[in-house]
Formats: sequence, structure tokens, C-alpha cells
Amino acid sequence: MSTIESIIQRVAAGDPPGRDDLVSLLSLAGAGDRERLHRGAYAVKARNVGRTVRIRGLIEFSNICTRDCYYCGIRKSNRKVERYAMTREEILQRVAWAYTRGYTSLVLQSGERSDSGFTSFVRDIVGDIKDLAGGALGITLSAGEQSEAVYGRWFEAGAHRYLLRIETVNRGLYRDLHPADNDWGRRRGCLDALRRTGYQVGTGVMIGLPGQTIEDLADDILFFREQDVDMIGMGPYLVQADTPLGRQAGPIDRDRQLALVLNMIAVTRLVLPDINIAATTALHALDPRGREQGMTAGANVVMINITDARYRGAYQLYEGKPGVTTDADEARAVLEEGVAAIGETITWNEWGDAPRFDHRRANLPAAERG
Ligand code: SAH
Repeated sequence: MSTIESIIQRVAAGDPPGRDDLVSLLSLAGAGDRERLHRGAYAVKARNVGRTVRIRGLIEFSNICTRDCYYCGIRKSNRKVERYAMTREEILQRVAWAYTRGYTSLVLQSGERSDSGFTSFVRDIVGDIKDLAGGALGITLSAGEQSEAVYGRWFEAGAHRYLLRIETVNRGLYRDLHPADNDWGRRRGCLDALRRTGYQVGTGVMIGLPGQTIEDLADDILFFREQDVDMIGMGPYLVQADTPLGRQAGPIDRDRQLALVLNMIAVTRLVLPDINIAATTALHALDPRGREQGMTAGANVVMINITDARYRGAYQLYEGKPGVTTDADEARAVLEEGVAAIGETITWNEWGDAPRFDHRRANLPAAERG
């Protein structure tokens, strides 16, 4: 057995996996080695979550944000962005459209606000979406850091999954990327609050950030494992020229970014076999075949942007975001073709929850299952 294969086996069996092993796998750069890694991860994926792609319809319902993250295109201080908030009717119109097309799992994402106008709006829209389809639609929220009470109200209204990326577990790097009022510890606390509330919890990081090391990425994976998350969404850091980091970061090495993201997906799959891992839009932005490559390295979830076309251009977290002018049906056809090309199928009409969530519940004493 080659050294790489023996490391792959150790990591897949690891309890916990060694940081050095993770670093070795994440560093693989030669085509043959990387292929071996991806193949190993794909086998784990096929066994645990199947050779299918779970689809989400993504609605970016508002780009108004009170945060000023140095890398993000919709940060509060970016005056070039035209701000919008979709109305209840606009959102429900998109939801109804999606429902007729077989999307049963929706992601509602936005900039971060914590005022009561916003938190009530989100609660009401979640309830409306539940009513619209007689409870048939699964709802994932991604609206940043909120109080546990707010997470609770949104959960009560019917949301059952939540995405909140930790961005990086390197506290120093986190501090460099955010203004002082963003606190890593608080963000991590939000992940704990989400779990306590009963959500299926997703987190993730940006990959290839200026100053980020391979060791940092290994630590990110160890964090995912320690948090026992259900879902991971991670993609390359991409420059947005109207941000402080974008102005300061040099041009990114796209090949290196792509290789790193695919290795991260593969190693995360080896360590966490039964979670959902997204082949993200940022990966698609990096390479037109990025999502398919992500799937063959272990990802099993794809989001299709179904936001009103008139708002898409205003939700640009980074440059080169794909699908700003493509309509959702066209985007779906392109994806179907890509998925077929790698010999997989798309599952429509299902929530597509991570098996991890059920496995964890099955292991709890009955009284705690809720
Ligand atoms: N406000 C919400 C969700 C919107 S931002 C929240 O804070 O969770 C969604 C994700 O986009 C962020 O978590 C970040 O990881 C990613 N993102 C932002 N700017 C980016 C950039 N320049 N390149 C790559 N990803 C970026």
C-alpha cells in the first residue's frame, strides 16, 4: 500500500484523526496523489450518502448588512452596493415557483441584521413558506449571528437547518479579517445555541485566505469534527475589489485555490463520512467544472440560485459570481448535464437531510431525542 493510501485509511478510521495526517493529505499537489485522495473520499461518500446530489433552491432575500467583514462584497461600508430586501410577496412568489419545479429544500440567505423588524420578518416568512406547501418544504436559514431566543423563534416557525460559517478557526486570522465587534467566541457560541435549539447545523470556512496556512485548514477540519456538525459549506476566498481585503490581497492563484478546496472537501469527507458537504457557488465561480470536481472529491449538495433575477447582481459577496444573468431553469439544465457526466443523479422532491443528524439522534438516550 502506498503511504498516501495508508494515511487515507488512518484518517478514515481516525479517532480523532492526527493533525499531521490531515496536513499531509491537504498538501498533496501531484495529479496522481490528488486523484488517489479524491477517489478514496468518493468511495466513502458513495457508501455513506450515496451517489446522488441533493439540491437546494437558494433565495438571497436581502443584502442589507450591519456587519463590516473585510472580505465581503455586501459589507455595510460598501457604498457601491444597491441595497434591497425582497418583500414577503416576492419571496413567496419564488417559493411557489420552486415548489412546482420539484425543489423541496430551500435556503434563505441574507446579510445580517438583528433588529426586531428583521427577526419578525424572517419568522413570518418561514411560517408562510411552511403554510404554502402544507409543510412539504424544508427550510434552511443563513442569516448570521442571532440570539438564542431568535434562533428559537425561527425554529418554532419551521426552519430546521441553519448555516453559519466559522470562516476560520485561527482566532488571529479571524481578528485580521473582521472589525473588533466581530468576536470568534461569540460566533462559535452561536453554533452551540443552534445545536441546543434543535437545528441541523452547518458551518464552514473560506479556503485560501491571505495568511491562512495548511495547518489552519487541518484545524478547521478538526473543529468540524469536534462540533459534530451536520453540514459543511466551504469554498475558495475570492477577491472583491471594493473591500479592504480585496484591495490589499494580490491576485489569487486560481489553480492552487482549486486544488486546496478539492483537497479540503475530500479530507472532510474522510473525517465526517455521513454529513452533507456542499459544492459551493464560490467553487463554481473559480472553475466552470468546479462543482462537478467537488462532487467527485466528496461533496453531495448543490444550491441553485432562484433569487429574482433583478436582485442577483446586488448580492455579490465576491467577483465572478456565476449565474447572475442565467435563469434558474437554465442553471438547472447545466447542472443536470454536469451531474450526469460524472455518473450521478439529482434527487428532487426530498429534503435531503444529512444522515449524520439521524445517526446522532439514534445514539441519544430516548429522553433527549425530543
Ligand atoms: N450574513 C450571513 C450569510 C451571508 S455571507 C452570515 O454571516 O452567515 C455567506 C458566506 O459568504 C460567508 O459566511 C463567507 O464565508 C462567504 N463569503 C463572503 N465574502 C466572500 C469572499 N470574498 N470570497 C469567498 N467567500 C465569501
